[in-house]
Formats: sequence, structure tokens, C-alpha cells
Amino acid sequence: MSSVVEASAALENSTVYFRCVAGCSAKHSIYDVIYTCPTCGNLLEVHHEREPLKKKNAYQWQALFDSRASTSVWPHGSGVWGMREWVIPSLADENVVSMFEGNTNLFWAERLGKQLGVPDLWIKLCGNSHTGSFKDLGMTVLVSVVKQMMAQGSSVEAVACASTGDTSAALAAYAAYAGIPAVIFLPAGKVSTAQLIQPVANGAHVLALDTDFDGCMKIVQEVTKDNSIYLANSMNSLRIEGQKTVGIEIVRQFEWEVPDWIIIPVGNLGNISALHKGFQLMLDLGLINRMPRLVAAQAQKANPFYESYKNGFKDKITMTAQDTLANAIRIGDPVSYVKAVKAVQETDGIVEQASEDELADASAHADLTGMFTCPHTGVALAVLTKLIKKGVIKSSDKTVVISTAHGLKFTDFKVGYHEQTLKDVNSQYANPAVHLPADANAVKDEIAKRLSS
Ligand SMILES: *Cc1c(COP(=O)(O)O)cnc(C)c1O
Ligand SMILES: [Zn+2]
Repeated sequence: MSSVVEASAALENSTVYFRCVAGCSAKHSIYDVIYTCPTCGNLLEVHHEREPLKKKNAYQWQALFDSRASTSVWPHGSGVWGMREWVIPSLADENVVSMFEGNTNLFWAERLGKQLGVPDLWIKLCGNSHTGSFKDLGMTVLVSVVKQMMAQGSSVEAVACASTGDTSAALAAYAAYAGIPAVIFLPAGKVSTAQLIQPVANGAHVLALDTDFDGCMKIVQEVTKDNSIYLANSMNSLRIEGQKTVGIEIVRQFEWEVPDWIIIPVGNLGNISALHKGFQLMLDLGLINRMPRLVAAQAQKANPFYESYKNGFKDKITMTAQDTLANAIRIGDPVSYVKAVKAVQETDGIVEQASEDELADASAHADLTGMFTCPHTGVALAVLTKLIKKGVIKSSDKTVVISTAHGLKFTDFKVGYHEQTLKDVNSQYANPAVHLPADANAVKDEIAKRLSS
């Protein structure tokens, strides 16, 4: 039997497949090299038929996921593969490429929440992950599928992505772990040092191009057309399958209780689509009985989704994104727009924006309560502050902020803030180190001055 026949037979029996987000009827195997609908050009999504999943009731699913969380059992100790039946059930154990991502801490931000006026504030630290951002959640799935495709004799030889920094770090790491070559397209001079050095260290082919993210995206789509190089950007909806576990994980960590709000910084709009998809699945299978309200937080310098929201989503607005400290969301033409509109509309959601000054201060303020937040988390926290001031988020609301990356990837941002050298930023919480002579009296005077003020 030829592999084409095998593949179509497998698709026939599968209850998990790619389908068009715009509703075209064709199904495609998730092991096919395909990213958009061949009929209408829209994005695909991985669809899980609900009937087979209803063989377990809500309590059985909850008990199963609870029992696997944070164990060392392969591959269920991963936050993603602990939910494998909801992710990619057909993936063989030996093809799972995992470094036990997920299961990140969700903690009560007691002091910050009280200062902001929402005492029930929680931070989901997705940056406490292998490569320092939530992108690991999606990459474990995508690279695992590629490994299985290669094991089955696919023509794919390598993986590639355009990146604002964190996607490439995750792809390079998971590809290196699996022994698959990775090609990375970065906008030259527009990513942080840590973000640039991660794929370099992991042995990826790193190509820095004289353009922005959207320009890199066009080139990578051209390069991946011949099907020997597999596209790993979030227009590839396999990544969404991994990323959707974050919402499920949050609810699991709250003992299956749904928070009132989840605020998430957005750029290409894959992650908010993923968040929504996870909640939709839980709702359909009866694990939860309501949606949280999702808030998409954008940097004002790169705010096409905010502008689209303001016009009631009548038209998709695109733009040339301006320079922003939140470089991972510097995107002017978001690829997952259609899915994200649905995420906002179906959760009674909101889109709000933050200026450079607001995001930097929000990040610094959070740090003063013991965090070390990345600028994107700063965008989400600034948006939280605005929505509290507007009375939209009430003091009794249970609110989660998704922290998307580790602050240590953005030390240039932190240093610039506290040295007061950032453009458009006043640094009201600047706390620069003071240089003193090695003299005990001078030191005592300085301490006395500080502790008395
Ligand atoms: C990728 C990324 C985002 C945005 O996610 P999208 O899916 O592009 O909307 C936000 N924060 C960080 C740190 C990221 O790396
Ligand atoms: Zn279609």
C-alpha cells in the first residue's frame, strides 16, 4: 500500500484533523504538509470531534489530567502531553519531543493585586519554561508531529520559522533535542541579545534579515513552499494545540474553577486563539460551565487588533508596526486574526492597548512586588490597571494575567528602565544602583537616608 493510500485511510478513521476556519468542508490529515485551506486560503485548525471524547465524563477527564500533572512518567509529566487525548492522540510515545514543558506556576500576586485594587490577582508564569516563553508549549507539538512525519517517510528535512525572538528560541531548542535541522529568520537588530543567542547556541541556521517580522514572514512562506522545509510559525495550527493547554492548566490549578478575567499580551494572535480553543473544548465536554472574559493587550506602537476592535471588527486593519519595547508583539499583520476575533466575541472579551511609558512602569511596578516581568507582561499589567480604573474589572473579580516570557530574556529593557535611558519612558519607579566608596560611614549614611525616607 502506498503511503498516500495509507494516509487517506488513516484520515478516514481519524477523529482529529485539519479543517478550514472559514467552514470549507474538506478534511486534511495533520501529518500532511499543509498550512492554509486549499479552497479559500484561510487558516486551518485542528478539529477534535467531540463524540469520541465524550466517552469519558467531565470528572473522569479531570481526574486523569490531575493524576498526570507534574509526574515523571513519559510523556505525561509534560503539561502538554498530560492532556495528549485532547492534543494529538495519534502521536506515538517514541516520537514525542518533550522537555516536560508546561505545569508552570500560577501564583497569587497578593501585594500587587492589593495595590492595584484587585486582591484576587493571579499571575500565570508561562516564561518559567525551557526556553523562557510560552512558545515551548506549541513547539513540543509541532516538532513531535514532524518527527512522526519523518519516521513515516515524509519528504520534510528541516523546520523553519520567522520570529520576533521567542518562537525561534523554542523551535531551535526542540529541533535540536530531536536532531532535526532548524532554519531561523530574524529581523536584524530587532530582537534582544538573549533571544538571538538562544537559536545560535542550539545550532540552528540563523539568518538575520534587513526587514521587520512581517518581512521575514513573507520570506519564510516562500522558502517553505516546496514542502521539504516545514513551516513552524503559528499560522501552522499545530502550535495552537499545544498552547491551548495553558487555559486548561489554569483551570486545573484553580481546582476546575473558571476565573472571571484572563489578560494576555497579543501580537500575531495565535496565543489568544489557543486560550479560547482550550476553554471551548472544556465547555463542550462539561468540565466548565462558563467562559472567562478574555482581554487582548496590545502595545500602542503595534496595535492593529486594537484598531480593528475599535471599528467593531468590520475590517481587519493592518499596519507597519512601530518600534516597541514589547518586541515579541511588534506585528502589524496578525496571522490568526479570524480566530482571535472569535475568541474576543465569544467570551465577551475586550481589546485594550498600552503606551511605552505605561507598559514599562507597569512592569517595573510589578517587579517591586517581587516579580521580574518581561515587557509583554508589562503590556498586560498596564491594560489591567486601565480596566480597573475604568471600573470594567471589579475589585472582587478573580483575574489572571498571563506572563508570556521570562524577564531575564529582557535585561536590556530592565537596565534601560532603571538607568532612565528608554525612549518615551519616564521611569517613575527607577531604582538605579548607587556607587559608593568602600567606607563604612558612607555606607551607613546612605542606608540611614534610604530607610528613613
Ligand atoms: C509570541 C509572544 C507573544 C504574542 O503571542 P501571539 O500568539 O503572537 O499573539 C506575547 N509575548 C511573548 C513573550 C511572546 O513571545
Ligand atoms: Zn476554506
